Amino acid sequence: MNKLRTYKKNTKQHNFYKTCHQYQTYEFVQSKLKQYTKLNNCKMTMREALNLLDQFIDPSDPDVDLPNSVHVYQTAERIRKDYPNDKQLQICGLIHDLGKILFKFGEPNWAVVGDTFPVGCKYQKSIIYYNSLKKNPDYHNSKYNSKYGIYSKNCGIQNIKLSFGHDEYLYLILKNNTNHNLSEKYINIIRFHSFYPWHTGKDYHYFMNDKDNQILKDVLNFNKYDLYSKNDDTYISPDVKKYYTDLLKTFFPEPLQW
Ligand code: FE
Ligand code: FE
Repeated sequence: MNKLRTYKKNTKQHNFYKTCHQYQTYEFVQSKLKQYTKLNNCKMTMREALNLLDQFIDPSDPDVDLPNSVHVYQTAERIRKDYPNDKQLQICGLIHDLGKILFKFGEPNWAVVGDTFPVGCKYQKSIIYYNSLKKNPDYHNSKYNSKYGIYSKNCGIQNIKLSFGHDEYLYLILKNNTNHNLSEKYINIIRFHSFYPWHTGKDYHYFMNDKDNQILKDVLNFNKYDLYSKNDDTYISPDVKKYYTDLLKTFFPEPLQW
């Protein structure tokens, strides 16, 4: 197996992060949270959102150049092998990237995908392509560029703002729609799955509170399946599709407001 998540200079990933790091300011994140908390874009089932990912290839990922719908089935299937009875974890694998439908609402790729990082406080070197953050105006803003910035020690990972993208978007959707059966544990996995500087870089632990240790464990366990599933078979059989269609109906019996 090739080594995954190798980020080189002057590649399309590098160019992607240059733009992302320049424009993901604290103010930008605030405005997107405000906009998408309104849930006034459309009404849609999870199945419809999943189908939309047939049209989306993640430009930030050096390991995948297949439509994202294939990646989410692979992730779910790997989880199912290890956790045949944990249907919530399987469905979590299946939907974890569906926030990428943001591309349908005209969001640029840099506000949809990529590793996430905290805004409103000092950027740490654990962030991929850290140097390109020097072009972000917040890097030079004394309000935001101290260790804790606008936050405080042990304020809780859930209380800091991360760069905006598919994680936070789907979190907002799941938190603000109450007509589904996915529990908090899985919603939090989705929310933090791209926060690599934290879950893999072991950084920003000074913001953690007691509750966050469990979230970190859950996210790290999930990450194995998100990552290594990328070398799997790309053929998704009708049986597999049927299995997840039924599972989607169980957990998301009604359309959601997006
Ligand atoms: Fe993702
Ligand atoms: Fe993923």
